[in-house]
Amino acid sequence: MKTAKILVIGGGIGGLTSAIALRAKEFDVDVIERDPDWSVYGVGIIQQSNVVRAMKQLGLIDDYLDAGFGFDMVEVFLPNGMKVATVPSHKLVEGYPANIGIGRRALHKVLGDRTIAAGATVRLGITATALDDDGDGVNVTFSDGSTGRYDLVIGADGVYSQTRSTIFPDLPGPQFTGQSVWRYNFEKPAELASLQAYEGPIGIGLVPLSQSLMYMYVTTPEPDNPRYPRDELAAALRQKLTNSPPAISALAEQITDNDGVVYKPLEWIMLTGPWHRGRVVLLGDAVHATTPHLGQGAGMAIEDSIVLAEELARAETPEAAFHAYRDRRHDRCAYIVDASLAICFGQLGKGPRVDQAKSTHAMFEMISKPI
Ligand SMILES: Cc1cc2nc3c(=O)[nH]c(=O)nc-3n(C[C@H](O)[C@H](O)[C@H](O)COP(=O)(O)OP(=O)(O)OC[C@H]3O[C@@H](n4cnc5c(N)ncnc54)[C@H](O)[C@@H]3O)c2cc1C
Repeated sequence: MKTAKILVIGGGIGGLTSAIALRAKEFDVDVIERDPDWSVYGVGIIQQSNVVRAMKQLGLIDDYLDAGFGFDMVEVFLPNGMKVATVPSHKLVEGYPANIGIGRRALHKVLGDRTIAAGATVRLGITATALDDDGDGVNVTFSDGSTGRYDLVIGADGVYSQTRSTIFPDLPGPQFTGQSVWRYNFEKPAELASLQAYEGPIGIGLVPLSQSLMYMYVTTPEPDNPRYPRDELAAALRQKLTNSPPAISALAEQITDNDGVVYKPLEWIMLTGPWHRGRVVLLGDAVHATTPHLGQGAGMAIEDSIVLAEELARAETPEAAFHAYRDRRHDRCAYIVDASLAICFGQLGKGPRVDQAKSTHAMFEMISKPI
């Protein structure tokens, strides 16, 4: 397809990288984002060498690296604090680090600025209330009463995707794993120069985000999926870290700001059937939301967006492009969802314990293959 007017629903990570990739192929792109403030919560994200490669393909790598912190190793510790492995990551882009830790807000700014500079239109505080696909195009009604006609619609609206429910109303939604994650930012000690992961029934990690900032994640079993009152979050997280290794206990004492604690029950979904219906296609967490145990959810969304843009530019019809896109993406995304869930269920005692160093090494091998 040489030309197409494309609506991207969702201005998150996958929606924005889609807009950038599609503009590079000279498609017309409108993005709608439900959040009028286009806000993102303030902790960080781990991105591995496949994302560094993807950022190079998107022409973003220097802005991206400037906004984050590069590192080349994952260090694995036992619950008692003993270091048991250092897993090197393969560099996939010569002259750049293998992995990046980056603040979510910093990443959002890099992607949002480039989306607008690339010529996509971004409308905030808007959702699509109706998608009427007549076979030749999609008539879209927006929540502000306006309408538009598009050749294609991409649903990049996350794990609770309204687009997914619209095109596949009978599909079940995401499933809760029984585990939640807590995150909190700290000043980064100068010596922390890699991701440090502590294995155990409570998983803990320290991720550098910049020269001065890092975040801690803590995964805890929460079988009853409780809701913690906001004004008790810091105390609850400190309590979860009782008996943690000395380096972590020292940090736990600094957790005092309830608003700085980001708590999230972990859910997952993997669409094993079609990823599109007619002229509407899904991408990122809308179609394969993983738990974060391998730090690859956003990586898969970003890779999706590159592959979808390539296939749209190559194919004669949207149908052909959507099939080729799903064929290239399904197994890789399913691997990440399955391998991440295996770690999660092992930690919860719902499955065999997974050796995290081996699993991380296997993941690095897999994601270094071309997309
Ligand atoms: C606790 C946790 C930790 C994680 N850590 C990592 C990590 O370290 N590394 C990594 O690679 N991945 C990580 N992930 C996964 C990563 O955050 C997601 O895979 C990624 O954000 C998916 O991008 P997306 O664009 O598909 O969805 P999202 O980033 O969720 O974006 C969806 C966007 O759509 C908007 N939206 C929703 N509904 C509508 C609507 N109806 N209309 C318009 N807009 C709408 C939302 O406001 C949002 O802006 C983690 C996830 C969790 C839960």
